[in-house]
Amino acid sequence: MWEDLEVTLEKLADDKSKEKPSQDKLGFGQHFTDHMFLMKWNRENGWHDAKICPYGDFTLDPAAVVFHYGQAIFEGMKAYKGDGGQVYLFRPEDNFERMNSSAIRMCMPRIPVDQVLKSLKALLYLEKNWIPESEGASLYIRPTMIGTEPFLGVRPSAEYYFYIILSPVGAYYSEGFNPTKIYVSDEHVRAVKGGVGNVKTAGNYAASLYTSELAKKEGYTQVLWLDACEHKYIEEVGTSNIFFMIGDELVTPPLEGSILGGITRNSVLKLAESWGVKTVEREIAIDEVLAATEDGSLKEAFGTGTAAVISPVGELFYKDKAYSINNGETGELSRRLFDELQDIQGGRREDPFNWVVRVG
Ligand SMILES: *Cc1c(COP(=O)(O)O)cnc(C)c1O
Repeated sequence: MWEDLEVTLEKLADDKSKEKPSQDKLGFGQHFTDHMFLMKWNRENGWHDAKICPYGDFTLDPAAVVFHYGQAIFEGMKAYKGDGGQVYLFRPEDNFERMNSSAIRMCMPRIPVDQVLKSLKALLYLEKNWIPESEGASLYIRPTMIGTEPFLGVRPSAEYYFYIILSPVGAYYSEGFNPTKIYVSDEHVRAVKGGVGNVKTAGNYAASLYTSELAKKEGYTQVLWLDACEHKYIEEVGTSNIFFMIGDELVTPPLEGSILGGITRNSVLKLAESWGVKTVEREIAIDEVLAATEDGSLKEAFGTGTAAVISPVGELFYKDKAYSINNGETGELSRRLFDELQDIQGGRREDPFNWVVRVG
């Protein structure tokens, strides 16, 4: 199976295989499987040396571009094990297409989506015993591209690595599907229109750390980011997109350059529409949301992203004042979307939009 993919397989000796972590202590992003996918790019050969090989260290020159000028992009997706051990991916082509949009913006080479998806399936097949089976658990997939050319100077790297690593992760809501408390930053911003907010590039996350640490010190789990010009309009929450049920409309900010176009966001819009819920993509001022918490028209709020799928919001903290949403409880729509998406992803429910891809 490896030959026709032009991918070589360097298999770890069976007795070198890592011990698998116990299923109830997986956490997030702490354990990595035995193998990874790796390929390299340079001008002469394009992508070459594609291989599935033992998970292990890279040796990179200290002058490599990624360490100095941050040419790094990544993706986040999951593989799920359904009934009878069948493995599923959720909209994987969308992740690789998004990675290619990120690559263009960061002056990095595009990846061949079909071949990379085939290689990912082969890697998952090899690592299938690492995919947790317990409810809500999954195998997190992290495709990454970095500029590796050793030189100092600001221009695009002439050499790149693309690799995929896999991490078994536990159920995000092992202690119940409970709403989070969110800190609204009126001082720092995540991204500007015309910048790279709509790109999954490493620097965006480094730039967000300071504010998330501030929020954590105040007892809040995530930061809600406002627009960079007026500090008025809602953009995203942490590394998730955000939705508000105001009156009978499900509203979310539009994708206008500073927001990451989440695949979960898109899936929620499609599902909600198919259920007859009115969905609107428009600018939402923080003042509108706070007023809606006070006059009762804000029914529920939730974040969307691959890691948590749906993350209900129970409280917003803005300018020294806390605003409760739905009495700090999980809303009906949040719960329904979570159940529906999780069941589609695990192959337990009909898949009306053909989102699910079987592996093996
Ligand atoms: C990855 C990400 C999201 C969510 O995207 P999904 O495709 O739904 O996982 C939202 N915002 C930011 C900033 C992200 O990095």
